Amino acid sequence: MHFLSKTQPRSGFVRIAALALCFVFAAAVLLSAAFITTHANHTHDVTGADGSCTVCIQLVHVQTMLKQLSTGIALSVAAIFALFAILGILRIIKAYTSAHSPVGLKVKLNN
Ligand SMILES: [Zn+2]
Repeated sequence: MHFLSKTQPRSGFVRIAALALCFVFAAAVLLSAAFITTHANHTHDVTGADGSCTVCIQLVHVQTMLKQLSTGIALSVAAIFALFAILGILRIIKAYTSAHSPVGLKVKLNN
């Protein structure tokens, strides 16, 4: 993919799309939490399909969505921390293995 390469900066469209996706994600989480908060103690209305409460059905859908989103966020954060831990370990290994040669230590051999 050419737009993710190091030599070319990201295009404006990709930045705007990423920002819009973040905004939609945050709005979904916040509005879902607000819906649960405002309808937690509602009076049951049994006018839905097969005599069920429509608000209760919506609450279950919103709770399921929040659980799925939180699972995705937790996995992403864990993957990022694992990546940084691996990169740190590789940096330490490289520092201990590459600096012990005369060339790596920049020793001037005059003899
Ligand atoms: Zn209800």
